[in-house]
Amino acid sequence: MSGTYLGMPAFPRAARDAVRDTTLRGNLRHATHTIRDKRARAVAELDDWAALREAGKRIKDHTLRHLDRYLVRVEEAVTAAGGTVHWAADAEEANRIVADLVKATGESEVVKVKSMATQETGLNEALEAEGIRAYETDLAELIVQLGKDRPSHILVPAIHRNRGEIRDIFRSEMGEWGRPAPEGLTDTPAELAEAARLHLREKFLRAKVGISGANFMVAETGTLVVVESEGNGRMCLTLPETLISVVGIEKVIPTWRDLEVFLQLLPRSSTAERMNPYTSMWTGTTDGDGPRAFHLVLLDNGRTDTLADEVGRQALRCIRCSACLNVCPVYERAGGHAYGSVYPGPIGAILSPQLRGTGSEIDASLPYASSLCGACYEVCPVAIDIPEVLVHLREKVADQGGAGHRLERAAMRTATWLLDHPAALNAAERLASSTRKLHPKRLPGPGARQWTNSRDLPDLPAEPFRDWWKKNHA
Ligand code: SF4
Repeated sequence: MSGTYLGMPAFPRAARDAVRDTTLRGNLRHATHTIRDKRARAVAELDDWAALREAGKRIKDHTLRHLDRYLVRVEEAVTAAGGTVHWAADAEEANRIVADLVKATGESEVVKVKSMATQETGLNEALEAEGIRAYETDLAELIVQLGKDRPSHILVPAIHRNRGEIRDIFRSEMGEWGRPAPEGLTDTPAELAEAARLHLREKFLRAKVGISGANFMVAETGTLVVVESEGNGRMCLTLPETLISVVGIEKVIPTWRDLEVFLQLLPRSSTAERMNPYTSMWTGTTDGDGPRAFHLVLLDNGRTDTLADEVGRQALRCIRCSACLNVCPVYERAGGHAYGSVYPGPIGAILSPQLRGTGSEIDASLPYASSLCGACYEVCPVAIDIPEVLVHLREKVADQGGAGHRLERAAMRTATWLLDHPAALNAAERLASSTRKLHPKRLPGPGARQWTNSRDLPDLPAEPFRDWWKKNHA
């Protein structure tokens, strides 16, 4: 993954700062509660939701088991339809491919429709370094880009901003990037949307290169699918002469029949709609209609490593609906930035450490960014058992070692020895009971102190259990 987010403090420190921000917490609480309630109502409308969920899970599992076969099928179908397929092992390779493709067109500007894969690779920064400016066209992405900010939610990347903040960003920044905000812009949703529409329209009409992601790739015909709510996707996908789609390899599904399942699961889980407003599909190129050149960049970037993990691979089923974020008590308080990745919330806590590995401080801390309450699993439309993967990843992190874990191992070794030597255990218990008044309420050392920062050590009884037993049951 991109280095964009790495180097951030571990989750507990980043979250501590976020929970002190009362505006952020207010914005998040309001937004997540509204979406989660609407989602629950939309899902309750369908009697066969459980069957749909199971079907989605099985289709994804089947596809992941035969991923090599389906990806080759995608490549054949896209090529037969006039497109060109490129394979990118990592973020750097994907960015290099895209930059070279844009440079080959002679253009220095591109329009983008929301693509998490390109955020994952840090494409905008890579293009900037090559003198190419990328314009985000999704409203929330535009707000993030103009505000020199980072996305904090999968579906609503600017969820941490309220209307007043958005108005201020538009007023001060739009002129730097193109058409300025209208005079006297207020914070009413209609005015903000109109300002964005006017600002973006000139970019759509000028751009010769579009960059997109995709929600799904249908292997049988090589068709890519984007679902969105604003219509910007359709503009990006049809107006430019060259279209480059960067898509994670796990986005493939075998057939159109399978797509039918996901087009029911995704909108209800994400925006709580029965059907999303815009579903755009494209297959290669067509003379006289849409882009004249189409390139598909298939991105691995840690996905095959994730696939090799029997427990963790279920994270690749994710269809990025964001339902798990909206019900997560940790996300609601900490916000998306604390996760240090383009994938925040519960899915980010299991996906980022698998895609990037657990070598960095932030990635090693992510599997602990959860209370394991299980709300994420309950709402996930493809039944990803996020708590199971979190515990599995915690085990991996613990096996890696670290100061806290060395201490834990030493404590376990001491306990093992004591339990193997009853006389010593007896003596230790008596000593602990007789010195109980001197015991501290907090443990020393950074790791142990953290554990007792929010809880007291339990008081020891005045009399060890064995002595009490002897006295009362002799
Ligand atoms: S893990 Fe499940 S609930 Fe969360 S974004 Fe992915 S599909 Fe949606």
